[in-house]
Amino acid sequence: MDILHSVAEMHRFADRVHHSGRTIGFVPTMGFLHEGHVSLMHIARQHADVLVVSIFVNPTQFGPGEDFESYPRDFERDRRMVAAAGADCLYYPDANEMYPDGYQTMVCVRDVTRNLCGLSRPTHFEGVATVVTKLFNAVKPQCAVFGQKDFQQLVVIKRMVKDLNMDIDIIGAPIVREPDGIAMSSRNKYLGPAERQAARCLSRALDAVRARVQAGEHAAQALISLATDIISAEPLGRIDYIRVCDVETLRDVELLENDAVMAVAVFFEKARLIDNAVLHVNGQQS
Ligand code: AMP
Repeated sequence: MDILHSVAEMHRFADRVHHSGRTIGFVPTMGFLHEGHVSLMHIARQHADVLVVSIFVNPTQFGPGEDFESYPRDFERDRRMVAAAGADCLYYPDANEMYPDGYQTMVCVRDVTRNLCGLSRPTHFEGVATVVTKLFNAVKPQCAVFGQKDFQQLVVIKRMVKDLNMDIDIIGAPIVREPDGIAMSSRNKYLGPAERQAARCLSRALDAVRARVQAGEHAAQALISLATDIISAEPLGRIDYIRVCDVETLRDVELLENDAVMAVAVFFEKARLIDNAVLHVNGQQS
């Protein structure tokens, strides 16, 4: 597996792959990898000849007072996991390579960034859209895989790719969970044992909401109240938001008429955790 640090090296690698008639599948990450990340790599492998994974903790998507400095990092462990997943290339640029002196261009996706995480992290998605654009320009992939765990991020990237005519197939991957239901996340490392236990309320609430939809409840407010009751029963958590939105526009809906997503964000002492469930009006919940 090649480990590349500069845009120039990455371009040479990508051009070699393309000249040999092969395609690149790409998985961008911020490292401190877990099985959720690995599942994305397996999916990318199935859709392309060559797998490129990037690790970059992107400063522009963290707001003031957020956890950029303390974000968990373990390059050696990550390198082994990426190699074991069968990647051909690990792209590992540093902040200077991504944002050299004089850098001043940002990518802004408008409507779909306003609700949900955009409410409490107003500059987050501009940082995400910018870094993903830059990574796409460096890696030149034919397809890229993003987790549905970050549902809004997936919607933002799909919108951006469409709006900017990027010739890249964006593939959404299912949420990978711990055996007790908690969505895998690098930030789970921040949880102490009591908080780790308490954090199960997110997936418990989403399960209860899915069951209620299956039983015929279509009013968003009733579903939000149900989830709020379950999550607020955990004194270690503080709800940031619980909302039900259209899966494409991410605008709040009042009644489930088409597929919708319930998205939740909950603060624990050091971690802000997010999770979601897609709610289908007819048929199986996912
Ligand atoms: P991150 O390193 O947290 O920026 O995540 C990199 C990619 O992995 C994003 O596309 C995430 O949505 C995805 N991801 C993170 N956690 C999970 C999970 N539990 N299941 C599936 N995908 C995930």
